[in-house]
Amino acid sequence: MANVIVKGLKKSFGNNEVLKGIDLHVDSGEVVCIIGPSGSGKSTLLRCLNRLEEINGGEVNVNGVNISAKETDINSVRKNIGMVFQHFNLFPHLSVKENITLAPVELDVLSKDEADKKALDLLNQVGLDDKADAYPNSLSGGQKQRVAIARALAMDPDIMLFDEPTSALDPEMVGDVLNVMKDLAAQGMTMVVVTHEMGFAREVGDRVIFMDGGYVVEEDLPSVLFSNPKEERTKSFLDKVL
Ligand code: ADP
Ligand code: MG
Repeated sequence: MANVIVKGLKKSFGNNEVLKGIDLHVDSGEVVCIIGPSGSGKSTLLRCLNRLEEINGGEVNVNGVNISAKETDINSVRKNIGMVFQHFNLFPHLSVKENITLAPVELDVLSKDEADKKALDLLNQVGLDDKADAYPNSLSGGQKQRVAIARALAMDPDIMLFDEPTSALDPEMVGDVLNVMKDLAAQGMTMVVVTHEMGFAREVGDRVIFMDGGYVVEEDLPSVLFSNPKEERTKSFLDKVL
């Protein structure tokens, strides 16, 4: 069962404390959207969830495993966590299919044949059937991001983390990527999504978390947080972005 429990998480870079005691829980099948101003620590929080950053205090539990414990095999934890970044990070020298099959084959999760078949299924799921043999350079930003999502899904993760997946896209590409994410949510995927797409957060999010200055300022159902925020800082942020 996928869940994330974060308690009192602190993270500093040098003497800049960017996460000042974060509590967060994400239940199995939940879609939690994280919003907040630039520099508030959203990306750092997401990166702490799969230990791309070492933490300075508190605890991060994923599927019941304390991921910062010395004895934890972080690679086995990461197999169950897919991550999608703003800037795709596809391997330019590999075809679309090779980008998708690389991790499951290298990590001995699937045979080459199984991985190829799965890649084609996933490309179908993200609407890119015809791009298996294309190279990343020939794709639009929106297509690249859908490949990046397919690549993350190839490991059959039980949690998907998205860090502003549509922020680098031309406006006409955003909808296709959000629709893929929406389908994924409808299939019951556990998702943590840092996003500036308030429409997506409102429609697809089960909960929305507003972060500012390294704190969770407020969290609530989207219908409540967007229409009736309790905190001044949430109100002034929403006034600027809505
Ligand atoms: P957000 O994603 O909300 O814009 P970030 O988590 O990227 O915020 O950044 C929060 C703060 O942490 C910023 O002040 C940023 O400069 C700092 N920061 C993030 N990553 C690093 C890093 N690798 N080294 C030093 N400072 C960093
Ligand atoms: Mg960020």
